[in-house]
Amino acid sequence: MGIKITKKCIGCGVCVDVCPYSAIMIIEGMAVVEGHCTLCGACAEACLEQAIIIDRPAVKPVAEQDKDQWRGVWVFVETHGTDTSPVSYELLGEGRKLADRLKTDLSAIVLGDGSYKTDDLFARGADKVYSAAHPYLADLDTEICSLALLECINRYKPEIVLAGATSFGRTVMPKVAATLETGLTADCTGLDIDKEKGLLLQTRPTFGGNLMATIVCPDRRPQMATVRPHVFKQPEINGSSQGEKIDVQLAGNLTSRISLLDRVVELVAGEKLEDADIIVAGGRGLGSTEGFEHVKELARLLKGAVGASRAVVDEGWVPYSHQVGQTGKTVCPKLYIACGISGAIQHLAGMQTSDRIVAINRDPDAPIFDVADYGIVGDVKEVLPLLISSLKKEFGQA
Ligand SMILES: Cc1cc2nc3c(=O)[nH]c(=O)nc-3n(C[C@H](O)[C@H](O)[C@H](O)COP(=O)(O)OP(=O)(O)OC[C@H]3O[C@@H](n4cnc5c(N)ncnc54)[C@H](O)[C@@H]3O)c2cc1C
Ligand code: SF4
Ligand code: SF4
Repeated sequence: MGIKITKKCIGCGVCVDVCPYSAIMIIEGMAVVEGHCTLCGACAEACLEQAIIIDRPAVKPVAEQDKDQWRGVWVFVETHGTDTSPVSYELLGEGRKLADRLKTDLSAIVLGDGSYKTDDLFARGADKVYSAAHPYLADLDTEICSLALLECINRYKPEIVLAGATSFGRTVMPKVAATLETGLTADCTGLDIDKEKGLLLQTRPTFGGNLMATIVCPDRRPQMATVRPHVFKQPEINGSSQGEKIDVQLAGNLTSRISLLDRVVELVAGEKLEDADIIVAGGRGLGSTEGFEHVKELARLLKGAVGASRAVVDEGWVPYSHQVGQTGKTVCPKLYIACGISGAIQHLAGMQTSDRIVAINRDPDAPIFDVADYGIVGDVKEVLPLLISSLKKEFGQA
């Protein structure tokens, strides 16, 4: 098992750019791999000269007759004490649709110390709730949770496992998928079922957001995916709190290399972007930090949160925590006002499911108008002060 650079290498450096682990470099016109290479294969795929050979044991496909043992759609419900992460509800809504298409059960899997009340999960569409309670799960240690989820998956064999692409989900799910030697598609923006083969169709942006790829995992089970918060809407509460609850007794050794030293609560000034009903977002069209102040003032007047395009974050006008889009936050407010934002696909990926989108841009052909419900073609530096002063009059402010 290993990686080999052959004489075909021309030293172009493409592999260096794609390696996510900075494990390859060019020395004297040839690629050279360092010891911390994970054999992920990204460089071999990118090398046009086919100069990289990766030798690793092939993963054995699950035999066709054994695939039937894997049944049902699972949503990994992220809990914080007695609270539920909203993305878990969103996934129950989407998981319900997938389970109906497959004519199978939708189950929620909950890990914790046992204090969490699971009734709500039935009302959001789950047929079953698997609840694994253990004192060691109270701190949401990702190593222990990975071991617990792994044990549950191995025991009950779901065909699909979904989780939120939160920092917790993004840590637990790859560990579990790697141990099970199955595929995991991160940050999906669409999920569906292939009508003929019954496979999970996992759609996500690729090539810097310029293409959408639909990924399938035909040979291994379970099929696993994470989805970012706010990509899907929360399901209606159906009033029923009926369903089957299975208390899982964990038998495995729940050990961890992590020790929890302290908990620090994140302090956010004003409304949190992800939770805001109204977002006023600014782009490079505002021209400067001073121009961006109009966005902040409008957000304050509307009691909303401030969003930004990546261009603005790169300029240093606002911190990264305000960035909306593929590499920022995904939001779904009732109202999204985009000021001087072009509407690049990477920005749209984070906000296009907003209920109402208002765009202000001086270019009538700006792509943001393709997703906007209302568009104002004009200079933000003129439109925003007008909007602010008329709202101030409306709200009786000086
Ligand atoms: C891998 C990758 C990930 C990315 N992730 C993100 C992401 O998460 N979020 C994100 O936002 N971007 C992201 N980007 C960048 C994205 O491609 C765009 O470059 C970025 O969104 C552009 O920001 P902008 O619309 O503010 O700026 P510009 O593209 O420069 O657009 C400015 C707009 O303002 C308009 N304008 C100019 N002056 C005025 C004026 N006076 N009045 C009114 N309108 C005016 C212009 O017509 C133009 O439409 C990513 C790119 C890559 C490659
Ligand atoms: S991409 Fe291929 S040809 Fe280019 S430096 Fe890397 S190994 Fe060599
Ligand atoms: S296999 Fe992956 S980690 Fe190793 S050098 Fe190539 S891209 Fe980097």
